[in-house]
This record gives sequence, structure tokens and C-alpha cells, in this order.
Amino acid sequence: MPETNLQDQPNIYDLVVVGASFAGLIAARTAAHRGLKVAVIDAKTEPGARVRTTGILVKEAIDECDIPSSLTRKIPGVRLYAPNKKHVDLFAPGYYFLATDTPAIMRWLAREASRAGADLFFGTRFEDATLTDDLVHLHGMDIAARYILGADGAKSRVAKVFGLGRNTEFLIGLETEYEETPTVDPDFLHCFIDSALAPGYLGWVVPGVSMTQAGVAVSNSMLGAPRKPDLSTFLKRTDPHFALWNCEPLRKRSGPIPCGGLVSPLSTHRVLLTGDAAGLVSPLTGGGIRLAFQYGRKAGAAIANYLQDGGADPGAVMAREYPSFGMKTWMRRLWSAAPPNAVLNATLFTPPMLALAKWIYFQKRGVKTGPRKNRQPKLNHSLV
Ligand SMILES: Cc1cc2nc3c(=O)[nH]c(=O)nc-3n(C[C@H](O)[C@H](O)[C@H](O)COP(=O)(O)OP(=O)(O)OC[C@H]3O[C@@H](n4cnc5c(N)ncnc54)[C@H](O)[C@@H]3O)c2cc1C
Repeated sequence: MPETNLQDQPNIYDLVVVGASFAGLIAARTAAHRGLKVAVIDAKTEPGARVRTTGILVKEAIDECDIPSSLTRKIPGVRLYAPNKKHVDLFAPGYYFLATDTPAIMRWLAREASRAGADLFFGTRFEDATLTDDLVHLHGMDIAARYILGADGAKSRVAKVFGLGRNTEFLIGLETEYEETPTVDPDFLHCFIDSALAPGYLGWVVPGVSMTQAGVAVSNSMLGAPRKPDLSTFLKRTDPHFALWNCEPLRKRSGPIPCGGLVSPLSTHRVLLTGDAAGLVSPLTGGGIRLAFQYGRKAGAAIANYLQDGGADPGAVMAREYPSFGMKTWMRRLWSAAPPNAVLNATLFTPPMLALAKWIYFQKRGVKTGPRKNRQPKLNHSLV
């Protein structure tokens, strides 16, 4: 049976989404378009504040959400560097990545959710809540909800309050933004594999939207001292090529990236997690934005089906929908062991390792190696 429509009671929402970022805003837009009375709350002061992510979109992300092209920059290839600075260029026909003006995309997503009818509350932190009679009462604010969607990131407070699964394995990323510089070839994401500089992940230099981004992420160490991203050493080592070491940073971005796969449990009565809060991040690449778009939207739809039409429990629906990341989680653990640089130098550009790199970056899209304008089926190893 459909439940009573509560739209006449101003402080009772059908759905409260905690977290106004990629996952939460897409979910809110979908649920509001489907007729739910939706609120989104976020601790940040405005939608574009406190950006933590590099914001690179894989091409599939814009199949999930049509982002205005004026807020992005196409990057057709990946230049992959070994520790000894030899590199290889990877492209796939018709494929590209998108650098983004991430704060502007957040503001655009917020406008989209608002235009669909959602109420957005910034500067509003979710601290605690109680479930009574199928209504979740949010403490410290005059809001109750028939359903809560926790889209509040890697260290989800919603997960903690409702006793849901929490992320335990992380990459730690640190990035700085600089003015746009001609030293960075705009055709490439520049990715540096180096177990001394970036154990368990990589360093990157990105030709961003009207700026340059440079960053490093490291994985949790399974043994020994905790690892920290050393951006300063990365910038010094890559300075002969990009000359960023002496540049004035404009802004910093940093944060934990879940890399241990889905959390469990994902839901309880009237509460579901999505996005980073659910562990929806590729354990290998650390990419979570496409998954936030894809499954945030589906979570919003599942909640609407449940509340409006007596559809199946959204927690059960999304547990079937969310990816399990099985093999990628194990590959992540291997990569976190950070093989010595000598091993990386000897093996990175061998056919099996290149096949793996192509699979990670481009899946199965007929990847080419070599100069883009004159693609050759041979590697283009050259010194930086
Ligand atoms: C340094 C770094 C670089 C990254 N680079 C990329 C990349 O290039 N490409 C990619 O695909 N992925 C990248 N990721 C991962 C990607 O950013 C995340 O997967 C993505 O942001 C997840 O979106 P989300 O909506 O689930 O959560 P988030 O973007 O983490 O947003 C969570 C929101 O919840 C709010 N919030 C948190 N707690 C509360 C609370 N108690 N009350 C109210 N609001 C709260 C926060 O303010 C925030 O707005 C990167 C991550 C980091 C840290």
C-alpha cells in the first residue's frame, strides 16, 4: 500500500539526504523529480566549499549525468611514468577523461537538485538521529524524515549513528592547485608510479580547467609506520619537467579515499548509505565520482519507489545493485604492498603490465600506445 503523503507538514520530509556532493545531490534531484519532498543537509557553508577531490571524470561519468561542457576540459590520454622517469603514452579511440571546475560543478548540481524541488540546507551538520514510528528525527534541527540517505562521505556520521558498516581502508590524497602552466602537456593525465614517492598509489599532474593540479596519494600501510603523502618531494622530483616547485599554490585539496570495497551492512530500516559512505570507490583507481552519480541516482529512485509505490526495501534493492569490487579489492591489497622501484622499473612496460594499465585506465577500449597524432602499435619509451 502506498504510504500517506506527508507533503503538507513542513518539517517532515519524505527523504533527507545527508551530504550535498556528487552522490547526495544526484539522489536528491532524482527523488525530487519523482515527487518526493526532499531536503539535503550539508555541513559546508555553500555547495562549492571545501572541495577535497581532484575531480577527474571518466567518460562514463557523463553518461550518468550530463555535465555542462563549459565546466570541464577534455584530456584524451594518460602518460604513465616509471620511477626511472621513462614513460609511455596510452590512448583509446574516442575515449577521454574530463578535468573539472569542481566547485562550479557542485554549485551546478546543487541548482539542479533545487530546481527539481529539493530544499538545500548548508552550514547544517548531521550529528544524531532517532527512529520512532517510521520517522527519523534529526537531533538539533526541526526536521524529521521518512527515509535518510547517508551520502556524507568516507567517514560517514550517518553510518556511525545507525550502526552501519564503516570504511576501514583508505588512500590518503593531497593536492595543490596552481595557475595554468605551459609546462604541462594538456593531452595527458600525467601519472607517476613510484613506491618511494607514492607507496600504494601514484602521483599526478593534471591540466585542469584554467589551472594545474598536482598531487600524491598513498595507501594505508598494512605493516610499519603510517604513510603520509609527501607532495613537496614529489614536486621537487618532477620540477625539471613541470617547474611547479617554486609556484605559489592557489588552494589545497586533501582527504581520505575509501579503498576497501563496500561496507556492510549498507542499510537498516529507513536508512541507506551511498557514495563514499557506502565504500563505492574503485579500490584500484580511487575513482568514486562515476559510481556516486550512477548509484546515487539509483538510490534516489529506489527510495521513491519504496515510499510512493510500496516498492522493495531500498537497502535490499541497492545491495543487489552496488558492485562488489571482488578482484579489484585484492589487487588493491597487492598494490598497497608497494613493490620496490627496481621491480617497477624492470616490469612496468612489459606487455602484461601494460595490458593491466590499459585495463585499469580504459577497460577494453582498444587502447593504443605511442604518439597520439601518429599512433603506432609500439611503445613510446622516452626520458623525461
Ligand atoms: C584527494 C582526492 C582526490 C580524488 N580524486 C578523484 C578523481 O579524480 N576522480 C574520481 O572519480 N574520484 C576521486 N576521488 C574520490 C571522489 O572524490 C569521491 O569518491 C567522491 O567525492 C564521493 O562523493 P560523495 O558524494 O559520496 O561524497 P563526498 O564528495 O565526500 O561528499 C560528502 C559530503 O558530505 C558532507 N558531510 C560530511 N559529514 C557530514 C555531516 N555530519 N553532516 C552534514 N554533511 C556532512 C561533506 O561536507 C561533503 O559535502 C578523490 C578523493 C580525494 C580525497
